[in-house]
Amino acid sequence: MTGEIFTADFKEIPYWIDAARDGAAAQADPAPLPAKADVVVVGAGLTGVGAACELARGGRDTLVLDAAEPGEQASSRNAGMLGWHSRHYFTDLVETAGIETATRLFRELRAIYEEAVKRIHDEKLDCEFRKNGRFVGALSPQRFDKMAREYETRARLLGEEVEIVTRDKQSEIGSPQYHGGVITWENASIQPARHARAMCQRAERAGARVIGRTPVIGVIRDSAGFEVVTERGRVRARDVLIATNGYTGRLIPWLADRLIPINAYMVATEPMSENLTTTLLPNHRVYSDNRRRANYMQLSSDRRRLVFGGQTGSWPVDLRKVAGRLHGDMVGLFPDLAGVKLSHAWTGRCAATWDLYPHIGIHDGMHYAAGYCFSGNAMAPYLGIRAARRILGAPGAETFFARDGFSRAPWYARSDRLMSVLMSYYAWADRPVPPA
Ligand SMILES: Cc1cc2nc3c(=O)[nH]c(=O)nc-3n(C[C@H](O)[C@H](O)[C@H](O)COP(=O)(O)OP(=O)(O)OC[C@H]3O[C@@H](n4cnc5c(N)ncnc54)[C@H](O)[C@@H]3O)c2cc1C
Repeated sequence: MTGEIFTADFKEIPYWIDAARDGAAAQADPAPLPAKADVVVVGAGLTGVGAACELARGGRDTLVLDAAEPGEQASSRNAGMLGWHSRHYFTDLVETAGIETATRLFRELRAIYEEAVKRIHDEKLDCEFRKNGRFVGALSPQRFDKMAREYETRARLLGEEVEIVTRDKQSEIGSPQYHGGVITWENASIQPARHARAMCQRAERAGARVIGRTPVIGVIRDSAGFEVVTERGRVRARDVLIATNGYTGRLIPWLADRLIPINAYMVATEPMSENLTTTLLPNHRVYSDNRRRANYMQLSSDRRRLVFGGQTGSWPVDLRKVAGRLHGDMVGLFPDLAGVKLSHAWTGRCAATWDLYPHIGIHDGMHYAAGYCFSGNAMAPYLGIRAARRILGAPGAETFFARDGFSRAPWYARSDRLMSVLMSYYAWADRPVPPA
């Protein structure tokens, strides 16, 4: 199956990063480290640089350190959906936690999305923002019924702008596989690598220093604050924010034990004719389905390529093999793409939590925000900013996600191998039901 499905110039890097390079030269060597800062933020993704901008604007000397190039992990590698997402169904939560809690959560999710959109507009962040809605498709009649019930309730009780699309009216995706779906209008698309870069530049403009290729290997607490130990030297700090999410590793074992890192995969096709892509996704929205191991996609901004994700949690992490499976999934949905090759494939690491909520808090004097369960484009900067306000002692730090009881994930949930078995089970259990 391999070989013929890859273009001659196939690259194992994110299409988004490749497309956002704009001919720029390779990054310079990382800057020397200062001896001290008021706050050291570990991780320069959306959480870290969102927080850093707020801290710098609040007058703190802020240093952000990243093991890789700033912003180039999950924040540049994702599917580019910007919306209000929750791993919990509103209707289920009403049953289990009560209407008040469910409403509070979903009102905040909407505010999170609106804050992200306002920031992009007000601060003119260059990220190919397009508010064109999201289509969530159903791959079985049962999944359609569940989805319709959920979104009708949300429209009625929360005023969410949605449109239920029944199977006979389904013209959102040019595939016979879908049994209808829902358009959620309060959803947008971004080019993730441009968004992450714009957020990074915003933090730097505010006065924060952002330094890449500087892995933090230890954080030592003492009576005067913290000593942050890196592979390139040590930095003293009064406060530390851990913003490492899916890449947390064993730096802070307490946090690592509470996060479930999961690899997610994406591919981009070679350029196609606009006639063909228009038959696939005529309305140029973002798209996903409501299975536990979903496929998600959008067209590139020039509408020439399909950028397609799935195979979440796959093992082994041989990128060409997983890309081959993704190509199979893509052709399963769109048989016309059988002869279309892949130009890019990549993986990124997300973090889930055992209760499927993001968490923000303080452990051993260190602040953290993490566990976005695959939906961090709006949530990560939002919680980064709340963590920054906590450090600043500023108002506006309250959030639903500063919850008690951030429980440890069981060992088997943190095993890549067992996760891949669970995800394969989900893929089988939720397999598409062919239309009659
Ligand atoms: C394939 C994929 C698709 C996704 N699709 C969507 C989507 O469509 N919509 C959406 O909202 N979300 C999506 N997500 C999730 C979203 O990308 C993340 O939730 C979000 O980017 C998290 O931001 P972050 O800053 O917390 O983490 P990251 O961007 O991963 O940043 C963490 C940083 O910490 C650094 N780091 C880790 N350890 C150390 C250390 N010891 N020293 C120094 N630095 C360290 C890493 O190098 C990394 O740069 C997707 C994720 C993936 C992978």
